[in-house]
Amino acid sequence: MADHESDVVIVGYGGAGAAAALAAVYAGAKVLILEKTPEGGGNTKYSGGVMRTYPDPNKAADHIETLCDGTTERDVVEAFVREGNRNSEWVKGMGGEIIPVSTGPRFPYALPLATFPSIRGAEGIGPRWRVKGAGEAAGIDLWVLLSRKVAEAKIKILYSSPAKKLLVEKGVGVTGVVAASGDKDVKVRAKRGVILTCGGFEYDTCMHLNYLGQSYYGICNPGNTGDGIRLAGEIGADLWHMNAAASTLGYKFPEFEFAIRHSMPYAGFIYVDQTGKRFMDEPGTETHMSWATISRIDTKTLERIRVPSYLIFDEDTRMRGAVATTNRGKVSDVYQWSEDNGVEIRKGWIKAAESIADLAYQIKIRSDCLQRTLSEYNLQCVAGYDPEHGRSPHTLVPIGRAPYYAMELQPCVFNTQGGPKRNSRAQVLDVWGNPIPRLYSAGELGSLWNRNYPGAGNVSEALVFGRIAGKNAAGEQSVIA
Ligand SMILES: Cc1cc2nc3c(=O)[nH]c(=O)nc-3n(C[C@H](O)[C@H](O)[C@H](O)COP(=O)(O)OP(=O)(O)OC[C@H]3O[C@@H](n4cnc5c(N)ncnc54)[C@H](O)[C@@H]3O)c2cc1C
Repeated sequence: MADHESDVVIVGYGGAGAAAALAAVYAGAKVLILEKTPEGGGNTKYSGGVMRTYPDPNKAADHIETLCDGTTERDVVEAFVREGNRNSEWVKGMGGEIIPVSTGPRFPYALPLATFPSIRGAEGIGPRWRVKGAGEAAGIDLWVLLSRKVAEAKIKILYSSPAKKLLVEKGVGVTGVVAASGDKDVKVRAKRGVILTCGGFEYDTCMHLNYLGQSYYGICNPGNTGDGIRLAGEIGADLWHMNAAASTLGYKFPEFEFAIRHSMPYAGFIYVDQTGKRFMDEPGTETHMSWATISRIDTKTLERIRVPSYLIFDEDTRMRGAVATTNRGKVSDVYQWSEDNGVEIRKGWIKAAESIADLAYQIKIRSDCLQRTLSEYNLQCVAGYDPEHGRSPHTLVPIGRAPYYAMELQPCVFNTQGGPKRNSRAQVLDVWGNPIPRLYSAGELGSLWNRNYPGAGNVSEALVFGRIAGKNAAGEQSVIA
């Protein structure tokens, strides 16, 4: 006997879960959502909420297919591009307003629309946009809109109720979920289908080490611990994109369980590794691709010489503004970075020194190495040419005015991409490529994106496959109880 019954049961109440719920309700189904945390919103609420348009769908599909290294089937990519272009109309249809997204002050020159302009099909990628609202960040604005529509549709949500197991009936498929509710387990019957929208594994270090090759600090929803991978894996789902994470660099202070995102207001900065050397085009590398730059291992000592790395800047940059983003989501509830970085210098989070030698001493790097790196970099600023890392001349701003500053940079993760593989109808596939009957998924749990993530693709995908999954699950024939 089930404790709850619905046509469609959705596991996880973030962007994908909300979109799936609304689509299923609009298709005439009764919907119940299970959410692990007391509030929901997931990573969607903490996100930048940025999406894209794809003015040339064919070229855009070529581009995304190439970025995914051929791991994502063409029809899945095409469904994403086609429906992604409908996201703005969908948002507007719900009463939302949309606004363009600019690239910000760090890039005082026009950036190409595509993050990777030299990759096949880049001409098909269009401008970025987000939902406008009263919130301090676009993710919150999007979430306010989605959660309002879910409330208006009177969709039942069981909060603090993590799904623990999928129920399968032989010859029928997935017919329900067992979830924890308080100190007991409840059985939730799904007459038409179950949709997994429970996010990635940003807060499961063991999964990071196994699948991503190193651990990351989360800057997102602590409820995302890979549950959907275990739920679907237990009943034979295939997995894909498990080695992919949209990662970035950030600061981890013992005061907080989560990391704080590094964000520079101005181009006068470099990163150095533990040998005091630069290793990338700091402002010009796609922020989500930091996994590709920090994963270097010393093959003799097995040490990770770029974990941590160090951010180095000078007084001119310090005075330009906060070197961290704390104005969104959870972080803004507990900490507001000072505009001139002064509080953080006094706290010792930012190391300050009158000389490069003293700065190097404080961060335990050989001072001659750090001095050499800075001298070379400052010469490149004069020449307007960075031969090794190809940093744009616009961003080659010297570091020369004492005091000098350093901060420890740690690998952080926005979101992971791996999870159960799905097809263009949002059905979860088994290891032989067959749909598992009545099981759907959407969002970053088993995302179509692989390692080369261009940004502004995960929120779009959550809404796109949420809608597809909701509509298709609602269209399943009802299991007669
Ligand atoms: C700081 C930041 C900025 C970002 N900016 C952007 C951006 O601008 N553009 C973009 O495209 N992407 C961005 N992303 C990524 C994007 O936010 C996410 O990939 C996307 O929102 C995922 O949506 P989702 O619905 O799949 O997952 P989520 O929104 O994370 O929702 C998953 C939900 O499932 C719940 N859950 C987990 N386990 C269970 C369980 N067992 N039972 C029930 N519920 C469960 C979670 O608590 C959570 O509420 C950003 C991410 C971060 C962290």
